[in-house]
Amino acid sequence: MYEAKQQGKNRLAFATDLERQTESQDAYTLVKAAFEGGQIELFFQPILSIHRRSIIGFEALARWRHPEKGILGPQHFIDVITQSSLSLPYGRWLIDEAARVAKRFHAEGHAISIGVNLSQDQIETGAIVESLASARHHHGLTHPFLVAEVLESTHFHDLDLACGLLQEARNLGAQIALDDFGSGISSITYVSQLPLNTLKVDRTVTRHVEAREDRRQFVSGIIRMGHAMGLQVLAEGIESEEQLETLRLLGCDLAQGFHIGHPMAESEIIERYLAPTRPPRFALEAEIGSP
Ligand code: C2E
Ligand code: MG
Ligand code: MG
Ligand code: MG
Repeated sequence: MYEAKQQGKNRLAFATDLERQTESQDAYTLVKAAFEGGQIELFFQPILSIHRRSIIGFEALARWRHPEKGILGPQHFIDVITQSSLSLPYGRWLIDEAARVAKRFHAEGHAISIGVNLSQDQIETGAIVESLASARHHHGLTHPFLVAEVLESTHFHDLDLACGLLQEARNLGAQIALDDFGSGISSITYVSQLPLNTLKVDRTVTRHVEAREDRRQFVSGIIRMGHAMGLQVLAEGIESEEQLETLRLLGCDLAQGFHIGHPMAESEIIERYLAPTRPPRFALEAEIGSP
């Protein structure tokens, strides 16, 4: 009786394993076809310099323009990409797209940079360093254009190796940002070891900063810590002018969020910022090379 039950359980476990495997195989096939068929594209969310009240860059966020389901967010496909053999070709494409779009703005005199979300293997294989050098050359970029965003939750197999490769990317003109800071537990180690330029403070930390004193103190502490380490601090998830004003008073450098702008298709950021028919809430930083 017991044995039969046990066997039944095993059979069940086996069946679900198999199901899961088949399911993920299907997902892989679909996502691979979407990527290779040009259905994956980047949306761009503006990043504001709080002091200058102008847009100094964008974050590239992956979208799947699905023929039947419409526009799908990264939660539907990005893990399939980064956890499969698609990861490195995707990383190369991502950096090349960022370079291409940055070039359109640089050519009009706006030295914006573009943030890309990188996964562990894209960094640890050295793929970004290679892609960065070739994209810069291929698109003829003379100004820095890339911010490499590393998630606070990224687990590096070899932290020294990752640090060395990120430093190489910096030597090629990229900036390094620690993404979703304050949402995990590895933050403090990373802040002191990775060759960072920017801390991106997670939305869960900046939420209610305008209304709650405890939040204000906490965020103020993070900003002071960042500055003491020579880093720029960016507040994520800014949804109102009150929140933005609070962060300005706390000395925060950069902000990103729906109040500044939603993630938009490439054609929309071109239209809104490079060829505006009416002034956007926040305009582009004026010139290349302005201090
Ligand atoms: P993330 O890098 O932290 O990107 C910010 C996310 O917060 C975006 O979600 C954005 O739409 C959302 N967001 C921005 N401002 C606001 C706001 O004011 N309020 C609220 N409620 N949300 C806001 P999205 O586009 O769904 O991306 C989710 C995550 O997917 C990203 O988080 C990033 O970790 C990952 N991701 C996106 N594109 C890529 C990619 O190309 N490669 C990799 N490896 N990961 C990516
Ligand atoms: Mg990010
Ligand atoms: Mg983030
Ligand atoms: Mg996030």
